[in-house]
Amino acid sequence: MPVSALEVPPKPNLIATATGDVAQTAKTSAQRNGEAASLEHLVETDARCGIQNYGRLSVAFKRGQGARLWDVEGREYLDFLGGIAVVTVGHAHPRVTEAITKQAETLLHSSNIYYIEPQVELARRLHEMSGGEDGGMRAFFCNSGAEANEAALKMARKSTSPARFEIITLENSFHGRTYGSLAATGQPKYHEGFEPMPGGFKYIPRNDIAALEAAFNERTAAIMIEPIFGESGILPVDVEYLQAARRLCDEHGARLIFDEVQTGIGRTGTFWAWQQLGVKPDILTLAKGLGNGVPIGALLARDDVAAAFVPGTHGCTFGGNFLSCAAANATLDVLVDEQLMENATRVGKYFEDALQAWGEESGEIEEVRGLGLMIGVEMKRPIARALMKAALEHGLVFNAVGDTIMRFLPPLCITTDDVDEAMQKLRAAYAQVTA
Ligand SMILES: *Cc1c(COP(=O)(O)O)cnc(C)c1O
Repeated sequence: MPVSALEVPPKPNLIATATGDVAQTAKTSAQRNGEAASLEHLVETDARCGIQNYGRLSVAFKRGQGARLWDVEGREYLDFLGGIAVVTVGHAHPRVTEAITKQAETLLHSSNIYYIEPQVELARRLHEMSGGEDGGMRAFFCNSGAEANEAALKMARKSTSPARFEIITLENSFHGRTYGSLAATGQPKYHEGFEPMPGGFKYIPRNDIAALEAAFNERTAAIMIEPIFGESGILPVDVEYLQAARRLCDEHGARLIFDEVQTGIGRTGTFWAWQQLGVKPDILTLAKGLGNGVPIGALLARDDVAAAFVPGTHGCTFGGNFLSCAAANATLDVLVDEQLMENATRVGKYFEDALQAWGEESGEIEEVRGLGLMIGVEMKRPIARALMKAALEHGLVFNAVGDTIMRFLPPLCITTDDVDEAMQKLRAAYAQVTA
């Protein structure tokens, strides 16, 4: 679109003007005015201006509705990834949209120096959902999973005796990209080039109770566990192992931390995964699915553990502000009112059965595992990435963990019809890959 004399001219981008690239500035401005950007233009601009820390697929989504997405070229997709377990109640849910819109028209931000009504309400609900009068947990809010885990690590050390500083985590775990959460992440490949890592962390194999018992000593402050490993390909942690961790924490006065950043908010069919596993943590972290796409994270802690944080101990500028808490409250309303946790259990089972049936027919599947709508499919051959790319061409969105695992984390509102359609697309993708 040419810059017409009738319009307010775009504010010149000084750097672009200085290098004579005025046409580029005008083009970008036209896009801001609502003209669709072509995929080609996005790819080219990102390659020129963005830090290249993501290996991206060549798709740019523009609009969503429920479990459907549309890209900038108008192609429709069935979303079985939900932005990696973020979109809990579906894209553009009218009740979440209304809550966000109303809040934006009223007040976005004040400060944690003051009381914030939607934050207090969200804390009340999380307290209620974690036991209420009977052991309900206290909440602190931040913006992401990594930040929630940082707060959890700080709370674990602060709430135990000074001699206790060691944090035990599991090999192949994923807890985030900030230094503390990265140190907690038990995967050397993520640490490479960023050393030295913060000290005091040690890693033990998942589901090895003897190693767990050997790891605890008088220096142990906490053990941090994802009840089901998400980023490593939907790997469950045994209930007996979690029970042993609970017992050892109690014996040592150490903290049991569950990272439910991916498993929380109904993903597994209950609000938190621990409710089904029967082991309650002292500290719990949340993020991904809490705001249906609006960034928010939370740290929850048992009463006496939470008491370690007093005014000045920890804080977060944006944490729990009006906008993110309004989005989270609306997300929880929809989750409960539309019975999406029950749906996750029912449709998750239907999906697992369909995947099993396809596995038997194709002979390609090693294992289908998961809980609710957190499902991993381990393939016998390294074709997961190829399947993911081919499925995308057929209009199905999911992701691959390495070359052998397909991971599905759809919005919790998907139906059995959506599953049937996804299976058709998956079969088409498989036919293409193996042709
Ligand atoms: C995604 C994830 C994180 C990190 O969350 P960010 O919001 O990306 O910082 C931490 N723990 C688990 C289990 C996750 O899945």
